[in-house]
Amino acid sequence: MIQNIIEKKRSLSFEVFPPKKDGEFEKAFEVLNALGELCPDFISVTYGAGGSRSGQTIEIASYIQNSLGIDAMAHMTCVGSRKEQLLAVYEELKKHNVSHVLALRGDRPRDMTDEQFASRDFAHASDMMIFLKEQTDLKLAGACYPEKHFEAFSMESDLNNLKKKQDAGAEILISQLFFDNDFYYAFLEKAAKKGITIPICAGIMPITSAKQIGTTITLAGSSVPKALADIIASYGDNPEEMRRAGIDYAIRQIRDLQENGVNDIHLYTMNKPKMAKEITESIYR
Ligand code: FAD
Repeated sequence: MIQNIIEKKRSLSFEVFPPKKDGEFEKAFEVLNALGELCPDFISVTYGAGGSRSGQTIEIASYIQNSLGIDAMAHMTCVGSRKEQLLAVYEELKKHNVSHVLALRGDRPRDMTDEQFASRDFAHASDMMIFLKEQTDLKLAGACYPEKHFEAFSMESDLNNLKKKQDAGAEILISQLFFDNDFYYAFLEKAAKKGITIPICAGIMPITSAKQIGTTITLAGSSVPKALADIIASYGDNPEEMRRAGIDYAIRQIRDLQENGVNDIHLYTMNKPKMAKEITESIYR
């Protein structure tokens, strides 16, 4: 998969999350079937905070890989996991032919004590990557932040740390969601100056309801430009119009990226295949 992306210099990938309850797998498989029809280059599957419910991530990734025949990328976090637990997840992934992992540090779970946090096996994602490269044959991806990771002292230090992911063996990066392409272009320029040469997929999340701004976006720390704020102010109370305007905004954002030479797009689908279809058909018409 990663080799293909490097060679094609153009990719479309999706992110999905596993069902929150055990009884909801059939519905999740329907979502995946519909997403699979759009022929993405890969589909990545999120991992519960602190490593909770990793079995669900593996089951969904396995379905993508083995039933849909599309490359699956399983997310994996290290903040709440010991080396042995990560290796156990790797063994399960291997059994299911899943060979791509987005290796993340993860955020500290609320119930983690200071002692647990201080004694974790890996302080940073790049530390886990070095370990996984030594111990497994996984193909690794890493996360990057066009507007800087919220804990980083400066963009400069965040980029230095990002370079460590490439040096540790990451073959591709996936960006945090952003709504203002200018941040992304500036980020790409700075990353290139740091010697980051691996492909970077631009993370796009369509805003289809006003309440997303208060939840997901706040957590991600992404700036909301005036054009998007105006859409929310105008259509926020009208779900159908808000959905339409939010999708149109994402399409315009992707078209602008493509016009500026950014051809690796990672769509945060939020498990909404109809929305993913509308966007995919508009941008690849
Ligand atoms: P790191 O790369 O470790 O970076 C975290 C901070 O530490 C940064 O400020 C960085 O500058 C700094 N740092 C890194 N290396 C060093 C170093 N060597 N020395 C000093 N400082 C350093 N979370 C989940 O729980 N599950 C998911 O499925 C999930 N999927 C995600 C997908 C994407 C595409 C993205 C962008 C994020 C995702 N997250 C997920 C959120 C992610 O776990 C958080 O953003 C987390 O706070 C940072 O993870 P990281 O891997 O980027 O950490």
